Amino acid sequence: MEKKEIKKLYESQINLIKKYNKDYYDRNNPKVSDQEYDKLKLKIIELEKNYNFLSSKFSPSNTVGFKPSKNFKKVLHKNPMLSLSNAFTEEDLLNFEKKILNFLSKKDNFLIYYTAEPKIDGISASLTYINGRLTKGLSRGDGKEGEDITANLLTIEDIPKEIVSKDFPEEIDIRGEVFIQNSDFENLKEKFANPRNAASGTLRQKNPQDTKKIPLKFIAYTFGFQKGLNVENQFEFLKKLSEWGFKTNHMNRLILGIKNLIKNYNDVERQRTNLDFDIDGIVYKVNEFSLQKRLGYVANAPRWAIAHKFSSNKAISKILDIDIQIGRTGALTPVAKIKPINIGGVLVSNATLHNEDEIERKDIRIGDTVTVERAGDVIPHILSVDKNKRPKESTKFIFPNKCPSCGSKTIKEFNKITKKTDAVRRCSSEGYFCNKISIEKLKHFVSKEALNIDGFGKKIVESFWQLNLIKYPQDIFKLNFKKIEKLDGWGKLSSENLKYSIDQKKNLSLERFIYSLGIRHIGLENAKLLSRHFISLKNFQNLQKKNNYDDLLNIDGIGETQINSIKSFFENEINVKVLNELSKTLIIKNATNKKKNGLLKDKSFLVTGKLNGISRAEVKSLIEENSGITVSSVSNKLNYLITGEKPTKRKVENAKHLKIKIIDQDEFLKMLNKTS
Ligand code: NAD
Repeated sequence: MEKKEIKKLYESQINLIKKYNKDYYDRNNPKVSDQEYDKLKLKIIELEKNYNFLSSKFSPSNTVGFKPSKNFKKVLHKNPMLSLSNAFTEEDLLNFEKKILNFLSKKDNFLIYYTAEPKIDGISASLTYINGRLTKGLSRGDGKEGEDITANLLTIEDIPKEIVSKDFPEEIDIRGEVFIQNSDFENLKEKFANPRNAASGTLRQKNPQDTKKIPLKFIAYTFGFQKGLNVENQFEFLKKLSEWGFKTNHMNRLILGIKNLIKNYNDVERQRTNLDFDIDGIVYKVNEFSLQKRLGYVANAPRWAIAHKFSSNKAISKILDIDIQIGRTGALTPVAKIKPINIGGVLVSNATLHNEDEIERKDIRIGDTVTVERAGDVIPHILSVDKNKRPKESTKFIFPNKCPSCGSKTIKEFNKITKKTDAVRRCSSEGYFCNKISIEKLKHFVSKEALNIDGFGKKIVESFWQLNLIKYPQDIFKLNFKKIEKLDGWGKLSSENLKYSIDQKKNLSLERFIYSLGIRHIGLENAKLLSRHFISLKNFQNLQKKNNYDDLLNIDGIGETQINSIKSFFENEINVKVLNELSKTLIIKNATNKKKNGLLKDKSFLVTGKLNGISRAEVKSLIEENSGITVSSVSNKLNYLITGEKPTKRKVENAKHLKIKIIDQDEFLKMLNKTS
């Protein structure tokens, strides 16, 4: 790469990290995972290492946190509040010690005592005490300047407002972590991704009365500026803190040498699940203040301390219960309810167990201590069971042979094609007879690819179901909006908006309609094939009367599995009733066979990112109706990349590289002489 290009790449990465910092520190609403953030940070540092002409005052190697918010008065810290360097492996720790020994010019046999302090994942605050009185409280801000949040900090019970001990310094900034307990976070998890963001959001409220509503905690661990402190090392200081009336971490330890730090790390990691607060690692600090003083600081962190982080994709927890969830097609999915644990910045309390066989194979039981993995956006799952930790009275988990929702028999089907019994057990009730299946069917009916009713999400389906407002899809079109208007959380405007959204979606294509019925094995593609075969809803409805299911074998792409599924759909009386009722309310457009010489003839398209008011499925059928084709990846065969909100960067870059035309939604619709 040329120098110019490297600079450009570096600048774009700096801009991106600036944005992530604002979202995380200022808005308490991170847009990417910690893993992704840390990867970007490493990339930037790596670039700086390789090209010494790169530097920025916004680089993560120079900055701490984010500049103070305008909502608060800015106050300079007398001593800066810094960040910490990170260690992820034993090797990182050995390097950390090696650097210390080099700096101090000591041999390998020089023994160093460290304090090991569990790293609570909250936000730090600095409390200024003058003559034993709490006079000011600041957030970290950008490390140099903090936000004056005294009034908010005063609402925290754990923070002493006055200290009378004789040996308490004349002036001192006591620093520690403000956090929220996991049990209190339970009530806030709808609003924040993890307890750290919840604590930060609550602490930095404009109105201290709002801060007071949430039970925030404070644990002290260090000091900034001081006058009259008579202590020689960190461990002694931690003891003093507790004598003075501050809460300190009961798991703080004084430890000699790296090997013992690792042993302690493993012990703490195992105990993590039993704590009612979130820790994301352990902070090690050289114990002697005299050594700390000699070691000093790099740009944004002390040389004498490091945070040994827990894995960002694995953690140990305990199975509290095994819940059986029932899907739209009756599949019973076991889900482990685990003791909440922070994995890479996300508080995980559920892990999928996939199916009955998986439980059997791994012999997973309620009460087991397990390792949970959460990688990328994949649903967390159980990696392994620690059988040594298994309680004596533990018994094997018996998978229910009756549906927990409706009591029907549960069955494992035999697949004639693969000649194997299905791994998935299902409720045999087939459809609306089972409450849980009904709710899932309704969620499917209103979902994006089906009716795509704006503002009618899964939560609304559940709440309307509980209130007996809906039981079948047709009930959605008979809702009593006067009644909805009066419900908790609703009003005239929101209920009118919902009515409008529902009315808007009464017109739809046969293909979407067939898909929305949620027939097992009939996804978007098969629904399209069926709609082209039947052309009209009438023909589709007549299928049962004419009993000509075998005709369907003539459709390319439709096989025995799909036909059996369609047959059992029509054999169910409630399904037929739903179909008939819907056909009276909805206006279903006949399917059109593809135009041979449409406006998009011989052109291929791919969509990336979120489009506005139009689903992917709709775009796909528009393209196909107009003789175009859709492809699934960027290659030489692609003619147009349609980009929406937050497109996949890689796709856009590849398209640019291959000189493929990149268009937005409006440009695409213009090609069809339409507007959005
Ligand atoms: P840090 O959280 O890794 O470490 C420094 C902090 O540790 C201190 O400020 C203090 O608050 C805390 N701490 C807890 N116990 C302590 C103890 N006993 N002694 C000393 N300090 C203690 O550093 P940071 O710079 O605040 O944040 C970096 C972290 O934030 C990374 O894990 C990063 O992934 C995450 N982050 C994520 C995003 C995102 O968008 N997802 C954005 C920015 C930062």
